[in-house]
Amino acid sequence: MSTTEPTDDVPSRLAATLKAIRRAERSAGRAEGEVTLVAVSKTFPAEDIEPALQAGQRVFGENRVQEAKAKWPALRERYTDVELHLIGPLQSNKADEAVALFDVIHTVDRPKIAQALAREMREQGRTPRLFVQVNTGEEPQKAGVPPREVDAVLAACRDDYGLTIEGLMCIPPVDEAPAPHFALLDKLARRNGLKGLSMGMSSDFAEAIALGATHVRVGSAIFGARPKP
Ligand SMILES: *Cc1c(COP(=O)(O)O)cnc(C)c1O
Repeated sequence: MSTTEPTDDVPSRLAATLKAIRRAERSAGRAEGEVTLVAVSKTFPAEDIEPALQAGQRVFGENRVQEAKAKWPALRERYTDVELHLIGPLQSNKADEAVALFDVIHTVDRPKIAQALAREMREQGRTPRLFVQVNTGEEPQKAGVPPREVDAVLAACRDDYGLTIEGLMCIPPVDEAPAPHFALLDKLARRNGLKGLSMGMSSDFAEAIALGATHVRVGSAIFGARPKP
């Protein structure tokens, strides 16, 4: 797959990733450009992100509010059309900063967060697009709504907090084949009339696209290996 192509700089890895995404769209019989690449720049400093911006990439993902707050405002002064996605866990006491900074939040995972986001969105007059994270593997250490609670959480977002949810997001267990998790996420989204599917990372985005992903979150295939946490 694209990750093994012999390229070693950010612009060529980005180009190879986009090419692989377009190829996966074609072989799935999907419209070209239908899938959005969220370039995951977490842990990488601004000087590593800048080449991707110069190459035309505008959609980026970060997993920590504080880190994004430190890196992105300055970059955004020069690249004003950047779209920033929060793909990491959100605490309700950071809802104000998240609403101020992010255009899309992929990690709504409990009613308390939905409530905090709704309040901040009203106060700030901002409407970031929202995805609900689903713990498809029901892993105890992982964030996300268990599959059996998805319908109820979506109903609460809509009826109790007046939020529009664009889609669902998942991170499959590392030691399992991802396809069944992608298929489950697709089933849950369809059942609830949601169009967005945030699924697929460096190692499995082509599979995710075959199973309906609208947003793939790709980090290391573009920016290189991250230091271990
Ligand atoms: C880090 C991260 C990614 C990107 O992972 P890669 O394997 O580097 O592509 C995608 N989604 C989430 C939620 C992440 O935290």
